[in-house]
Amino acid sequence: MLVYNAARCLKCGMVVESKYRHEAKTCGCSNKTTVDGGLHYQQFSGVDINLIQPISLHVWDDYETVREYGFVLKALKEGKLMVLRLKDIKTAWLDKAISWLMTNMPMKRTRVLVMLIREKQYRMELEA
Ligand SMILES: [Zn+2]
Repeated sequence: MLVYNAARCLKCGMVVESKYRHEAKTCGCSNKTTVDGGLHYQQFSGVDINLIQPISLHVWDDYETVREYGFVLKALKEGKLMVLRLKDIKTAWLDKAISWLMTNMPMKRTRVLVMLIREKQYRMELEA
């Protein structure tokens, strides 16, 4: 399960990250290093593909790294989405989100629930 989808442009050094399914992000240089797919698929393109270094993280990778880059999207009232990195989520919100998902979870939100529970587990292990 993918939790971070990005690419480093080896020409300009910029890291571009795609967070949503059809969000293509491109670096600023002439290589036009592009990443697309969010957490649904990984697609990379650019003028010279040898100048593209794919970066991806999966839920089973080192968790310290996963919580730094992994994220969930929080819906705001104005219909916008806010990116919350796992490590930055307030514990009270984490607990509320988990219990809400446990009772109302649409099946497509499984990924979010798995990540929130993994983060909760991590925090409980730290306290123990
Ligand atoms: Zn570039």
